[in-house]
Amino acid sequence: MTKFGAVAATLAVLASSGSALSANYPDHPIYMIVPFAAGGPTDTIARLTADAMSKNLGQQIVVENATGAGGTIATRRVASADPDGYTILIHHVGISTAPALYRKLPYDTLKDLRTIGMVSDAPMTVIARSDLEPKTLQELIAFIKEKGTDLTFGNAGLGAASHLCGALFQSAIQAKVTTVPYKGNGPVMTDLIGKQIDLSCDQSTNTVGPIKQKQVKAFNVTSKARIEQLPDLPTSAEGGLPTFEFGVWHGLYAPSTTPDDVVKRLNEALQAAIVDPTVTARFKDMATRAATAEEATPEGLRAKLESEINRWGPILKAAGEFAD
Ligand code: ASP
Repeated sequence: MTKFGAVAATLAVLASSGSALSANYPDHPIYMIVPFAAGGPTDTIARLTADAMSKNLGQQIVVENATGAGGTIATRRVASADPDGYTILIHHVGISTAPALYRKLPYDTLKDLRTIGMVSDAPMTVIARSDLEPKTLQELIAFIKEKGTDLTFGNAGLGAASHLCGALFQSAIQAKVTTVPYKGNGPVMTDLIGKQIDLSCDQSTNTVGPIKQKQVKAFNVTSKARIEQLPDLPTSAEGGLPTFEFGVWHGLYAPSTTPDDVVKRLNEALQAAIVDPTVTARFKDMATRAATAEEATPEGLRAKLESEINRWGPILKAAGEFAD
């Protein structure tokens, strides 16, 4: 080959594969950091997604739980990780409530992270130990108003979805319970089933099974319509709380300076994961919706993140949860 031909061939290879540095990406395992404890809903979604993405990438994705401070410890870890595509974050709606809840975050959510794509969306359910007296949401509200802070409510810390749900619920019913913070809803569920605490609010991803098996009692689901997995469970609106409606969306993130071609490759793997039959079947059992192809793009998640940060600030302030 002439010298000119060799240079042209090299340029062609570089153009088709992106940067020379990441041409072989991924050539060793990737770490997916989960902000909550093993056995909870985020962990479940992470492990299913990671397995399906690993198949597509031809490399293992190792799931690591880095718990604490409502997910902000894991977020900081990924925001300051090497931007090489080998450390990524899975996080939920809490990434968009943390800027309002924490006086000072050790990272800038919009500047220090790059979005890869949305993964899933699931409603929440208000649940209680199986022997708590109330049977309906209305009875539960009256019971909480009577017992107040004598009742314990387990959540996964300030910034967790269970915190958000508890804050919105208490604000909607104008009553307060005693919060017991855990490192995730895995351990909350264990203690609720064991009757060590009275109440919680958790994603359907984690609650459909225990509700069906009557290990815990459920009062409402925060979706607009009832879910087919628990057809007898009323919506918040049916129970008299029309504003208590929201979903918990999960997304994937990388450090902000991660190269374009690496993010593109991770996104391709995510797109494959959200249509993987194992993932969609398990998600369906847990009343969890896989993101659409459009939501699962970097732009789709970025738009969601920005609009959710703007949306939750004023709502949390109105609920008396704003750190100012
Ligand atoms: N999603 C968290 C978990 O997996 C808990 C939460 O956000 O409430 O434990």
